[in-house]
Amino acid sequence: MISPATNNRPLRCWAEIDLAALERNLRLIRASLPGGMRYVAVVKADAYGHGLHHVAARLMHSGADLFAVANVTEAAALRELGPGWPILVLGPLLPEEDRFLADYDLAATVSSPEEVVRFNAIGQAAGRAIPIHLKIDTGMGRLGVWHEHAERLYRQIIAAPHVLLAGVYTHFASPDDNVVFTDEQRRRFLAALTRCEGIKLDELFVHADNSAGIESMPGASPFNAVRIGLLQFGILPHPNSLLAQVRTEPVFSFHTRVGLVKALPGGTTISYGCTHTLTRDSTVAILCAGYADGIPRAVSNRAQVLIHGLRCPVLGRVTMDQTIVDVTDVPGVACGDETVLVGRQGTAEITITEFSRWADTIPWETLCSVTKRVPRMYRTVLGV
Ligand SMILES: *Cc1c(COP(=O)(O)O)cnc(C)c1O
Repeated sequence: MISPATNNRPLRCWAEIDLAALERNLRLIRASLPGGMRYVAVVKADAYGHGLHHVAARLMHSGADLFAVANVTEAAALRELGPGWPILVLGPLLPEEDRFLADYDLAATVSSPEEVVRFNAIGQAAGRAIPIHLKIDTGMGRLGVWHEHAERLYRQIIAAPHVLLAGVYTHFASPDDNVVFTDEQRRRFLAALTRCEGIKLDELFVHADNSAGIESMPGASPFNAVRIGLLQFGILPHPNSLLAQVRTEPVFSFHTRVGLVKALPGGTTISYGCTHTLTRDSTVAILCAGYADGIPRAVSNRAQVLIHGLRCPVLGRVTMDQTIVDVTDVPGVACGDETVLVGRQGTAEITITEFSRWADTIPWETLCSVTKRVPRMYRTVLGV
């Protein structure tokens, strides 16, 4: 494993990132897609908390066609890895950020006539056209030109000499649980494109589907790319996913260690607010991680952790630096024992989906909530 600079001090709370699994996932997803479908790797938010540089470098080797990030700062960090990889900025740019499109060779998302004018001026000043992806709002109500107004914006783009149309895309609002609305969004998108006279879709990136969307992806259509975030990290967007047959593996796991073990008499209350009372004489373990590491306070009295391959319930409130668990039924727990918050230990497993449910949130947010106090340890080779 590649370890970050921890100054030889032992790890108290860490995330393991299995880059070999990431590579296998990308290959599996690619193999399950229709032939010729290009792969847009979404690596925003520090690659969903996995670490942008390590993840992007591995995805480059594994055959990603284009990288998508949220903003210019993330795009610049990605560009540091090397020239040549197409990078799409998904979010809107602040006017002062426009010049970085040229400096870092980025593609921008366009939703409005003002953006075309701005990016065209940047292209003119730089002496080369700025690549853009026209985004069409088909019902997300966020970025993109409203689909009924897309044709006019398309004509403005075609007429602007210093921007180059490189892609068209839309974003689904409810791909995981509303097939009817998703189909309506697809219909609006395709209808809007049909009105764009002379558009050469086979020369563009035409993309709509994210991890959840690709389940309902129609076979014959102009779509020729997918935008994948969560799924490449081995997490199914929803439990009964059709994609369960694509056997991706979790890339992320979350670990801490036992800092103290002690006996407490029944009737003792545990942690801030006294929200848990021991119903019996108990042995508790105090873990070396709390909400400052990314264990949400919302999992207080709800989550379980794995110690010695057995599930141990969290007792009382999660605190900033420590969490208390019941180890009465787990013999021999000692200071220093490894504890799994998310991941496998022996034959037991706590998935990020289960952990997220305890926190009343979604895996995307759980991953983004692991804080910078938590070193990411990279597993790079199969079985090592
Ligand atoms: C984050 C994002 C994605 C990736 O979504 P996943 O559900 O993680 O696959 C795709 N498209 C856009 C516009 C996004 O912002």
